[in-house]
Amino acid sequence: MQIKDAIVTDHRFPSAFSAELLLLDSGCGCRLTDAAGTSYLDLGAGIAVNALGYGRDDLADIAAAQMRKLVHVSNLYTTGPALELAKKLTGDRFAAVQYMNSGAEANESAIKFARMYAHRGAGNTGRHKILAFTGAFHGRTYGALACTPTPKYQEPFGPMLPGVEVAPYNDVDALRAKLDGTFAGVIVEVVQGEGGLAAMTPEFAAALNAGCAEHDVVLIADEVQTGLGRCGHLFASDGVGLDPDIITLAKPLAGGLPLSAVLLPAAVNDRLHFGEHGTTFGGGPVTCALASHVFDLLTDPAFLAEVRERGEQLRQGLESLREAHGLGPVVGAGMLRGVHVPGTTAGPAGEQPRIQALATALRAAGVLVLRSGEDVMRIAPPLVISAGELAEGLRRMDAALSGL
Ligand code: PLP
Repeated sequence: MQIKDAIVTDHRFPSAFSAELLLLDSGCGCRLTDAAGTSYLDLGAGIAVNALGYGRDDLADIAAAQMRKLVHVSNLYTTGPALELAKKLTGDRFAAVQYMNSGAEANESAIKFARMYAHRGAGNTGRHKILAFTGAFHGRTYGALACTPTPKYQEPFGPMLPGVEVAPYNDVDALRAKLDGTFAGVIVEVVQGEGGLAAMTPEFAAALNAGCAEHDVVLIADEVQTGLGRCGHLFASDGVGLDPDIITLAKPLAGGLPLSAVLLPAAVNDRLHFGEHGTTFGGGPVTCALASHVFDLLTDPAFLAEVRERGEQLRQGLESLREAHGLGPVVGAGMLRGVHVPGTTAGPAGEQPRIQALATALRAAGVLVLRSGEDVMRIAPPLVISAGELAEGLRRMDAALSGL
């Protein structure tokens, strides 16, 4: 296959909502402009990545300065930006950070670390099972994919990594019945970003804490989508009382460049030997320099308070839409929220899902939204969105729903 063919093939996939891909050209704040000059209010932030919005001189300047200084050193060495970021990410709660490049890789690493911790435990019993939950999305590499029990992601690529079991999400009784000392790890999302935005209940969080502590099972919170302020807290697990051993972070971490992180406690880190796990690109000085700055901005208490306020505005706005247009439940947390848009509606080529018609109408009206699960309209804007911009988005949703 020639390179040209590969590029064309890659870009021929229809997007989640439309066969016609939007050709985007530039961005500023919460707005994107396409190649034809049309402007869009972006309520998806590149799938929860662009937390600080577009066209940021601060990010461009940091990246350019670091590019001139040093771009890559490999994991045989380290750099100032990598160490500075590690200090910030670990704080006084974690012992170490493992840098990787993507969310899937971070989860892959966490699963490996949970098994390693079990293998090196007292009286090694051979335990290795990983518990995941219905509706989860942890990534598309084999370990992460095995923990993503949705047929459309798994079926074409079987068989999956062995040793993964699945329990119903938010079901305390099922969890208690299932979780025992044969498991090495549990991997869970606080809000199921791709699986319909179900949010963890405090009861489920408490049962996960207790069950994992009782059986010495490593509790992994996949905060790839929910972490770093998206849900109004540094970690969404803090908001619901989940006390994970390992946290994985990715999407907004490096301001739009690929960087992920696995935060490890001493108990796990102490059993990991030098050179057993690593990556070529993860934790390079450019992404780490960016992430250090992004971390400072996203973790400012005043910024997080603002995110919680906007999140409440979003919740109320979606509740109003639900009442006015007979939609399903409002779901999610903070600035990762959505509303179920069930049913079908007449489209140009016959009946189509109402969620799809809504997204198409919104795009025509200059608003970009995301989908989650089967029928949830997912709203995950840049966290810097103003009250006025969010109100504008909600008004246009109201108009689009009225026109369906
Ligand atoms: N985990 C969660 C919760 C995610 O939402 C995603 C991506 O959407 C991933 C993992 C995978 O991340 P990546 O696409 O960077 O591999």
